[in-house]
This record gives sequence, C-alpha cells and structure tokens, in this order.
Amino acid sequence: MQMLQRSWTPLMAAAFAVLAGLAAQPAAAEELAKDLFGAKKLPAVAAPQSIGFYSTGCFAGGVAIPMDGPYWEVMRPSRNRRWGHPAMIGLIEKLSRDAAADGWRGLLVGDISQPRGGPMLTGHASHQIGLDADIWLTPMSDKRLSPNQREKMSATLLVDEKTHLVKEALWTPQHALLLKRAASYKEVERILVNPGIKKKLCDTVKGDRAWLRKIRPFWGHDYHFHMRVGCQPGSPDCKRQEVTAPGDGCDQSLAWWFTDEPWRPAKNPDKPKAREMMTMASLPRGCQAVLDAPAPSSAEAATYYGGASIAASAPAAVQPPVAAPEPAITDGAGALPASANAFAATPEIGIPLPRPRPGN
Ligand SMILES: [Zn+2]
Repeated sequence: MQMLQRSWTPLMAAAFAVLAGLAAQPAAAEELAKDLFGAKKLPAVAAPQSIGFYSTGCFAGGVAIPMDGPYWEVMRPSRNRRWGHPAMIGLIEKLSRDAAADGWRGLLVGDISQPRGGPMLTGHASHQIGLDADIWLTPMSDKRLSPNQREKMSATLLVDEKTHLVKEALWTPQHALLLKRAASYKEVERILVNPGIKKKLCDTVKGDRAWLRKIRPFWGHDYHFHMRVGCQPGSPDCKRQEVTAPGDGCDQSLAWWFTDEPWRPAKNPDKPKAREMMTMASLPRGCQAVLDAPAPSSAEAATYYGGASIAASAPAAVQPPVAAPEPAITDGAGALPASANAFAATPEIGIPLPRPRPGN
C-alpha cells in the first residue's frame, strides 16, 4: 500500500507533465505564416491567382522577373523577392522599356513578392499577393552591377528627412516622367511615394494632371516608389482596395503630411506588426492549398521572359551570394506608426494647401 502510494507521486507528476505539454501544444504548433511562406523558395504551380488582400494573402502561379533584362536589374537578389503575378512581372518589363524610351536608363527593381507571397520575415506589410513592386528612384548606371553590388549598394534618399521636401539637387524631370509612365497603365491603381515627392509633382506638373490621382503620399518611399496593380482576371478571391478619392490629391490630405502629426513617434514602437503574428488561420483559406502546391523544377523554369513562353530562351541565371545579409532598407517600415494604412485615404484637415510659388 505504501509502495503504491509512493509510486503514485512520480506517476502523477509525469501525467501532469504530459497534460501540460498537450495543453501547450496548440499554441506552440501554430506556426507563423511568415515562417511558412518565407521558407518557400519556389512558386506554387497552378493557374495564376491572387488570393486575399495586399496585406493579408498569397498567390499561386507566380513567375520571377529575370535577374537582368535589357532595361532592368534586380536588386537584393538574395532576398528572393523577385516573384509576382505574371501581369505584374510583365508590367515591370514593359515599364522598363517605356521608361527607357522616356530617357530613364533602366530600372533597379526592388522587392516584389516571395515565390508564393504571404507575409514576409522582414519589411513590408503588403507585397503579399504578387501585385506590389518597389522600383528604385535611381536609374541603372551604364555598367552592370555585380551580384555583390546589388546586395550592398545603398539607395539614394531623395527626400530631406527633416523638412520632408525633395532634395532639389537630386530631383530630375526624368523622375516625374518615370512616375507618370507607371501611373499611365490601367493595371496600376496606386503608386506610393514619399509626401515630399507627391508635393514636388503637385507643384511642378503642368498640363495633364489626372495621373496624379494615382500617386499617393506615404511614409518611407523616399528612395523607391511602390507600384500597386489591381486584382487581375482569374482571381475571384482577390480583394480590391478602396477606390482613391477623386482629384489630383494636391489638397488638404497632402497638407496633413506637412504637419507634425504623421511624424510623431509611435506610442507603442515595440508592438508586433500584424504580419509578424499572422498564422494560417489569419489568411484566406485558399492560402493553405497555395502552401501545399507542388513547385516547379527550378526558379529558371518559372522565370518570365517578356511574355514569350516561360524559360524559352533562358540565359544563365545569376547566382545570388550564399550569405543573405539583413536588408539595410525595409521599405520605411520602421518609421511607420501603428495606424499606417496605405489602402485608405489620408485625413483631411483645414490647413493651408501647399502651392507653387506665384509665377510658377
Ligand atoms: Zn513596397
């Protein structure tokens, strides 16, 4: 009897430990979506389809933009974020040609999406459904960048961080032409730029100003602009964003950016961001199938060459360096207040409008 009683204690302790383990299991086993999607090196082989919203979703049938094109170079290749919906990739390639004709030597292509989209391990809140792309506001130079330079080259900040105005010495008419060209495509619904850049356009663009409606002020975006394409045919579960307000946006909503309010430090700077906490349950149901779908044989097999058959006349892919350094630039995400929202209208308040000087 005594023996039994004594042996109960460790047994019960063991039982409790097992129970406690079971209870803790669901939380521990619920993997974060950023880890699951961040681990996918290749896209989901399926018909192209964006599922969910720009900041909560994923996509199937992704293709990669080649590391090099006649008028583009992919930057930060080790991040493996050169993937997108074929419509997005085709549009970047088209923009590179059109911009070159406008006098922009070539595009430095920043982050597009992970191979299957989804939340990222670092940076962006959006870029999740293959319909967002960052393009540097620095043109290609006449010499091709080495893989190492693409990882390390710093971007040029076009905006003064104190005044939030464009640095006059760096701004050129070609910057405006590039943004105008990007905004001219019907697929492009929004272009996010720093408020200083929006103001520069408001103050200087003459003639046709309708395209300014698509140019939207947002934090960061002072070394690159962000091009967002609308939901594409064949994506019934793609969630559209709000329609932008009518007008050129050179109004109180822009003036708000030149007050103190948008630049106050975040009340809770260490609060985890939404994309850092998302689980598969936070994403649309279709994203599990995207995660589970088979991959192509290689990245090359899913690389998009100018709208011709994929991987038709494939040049040798540039091998990214093995070590992937932590990105130096994170889309200005560090500076974002918790309320930051690139999908909604900016608040309008009654303060004087930014206007060009008389005579301009
Ligand atoms: Zn972006």
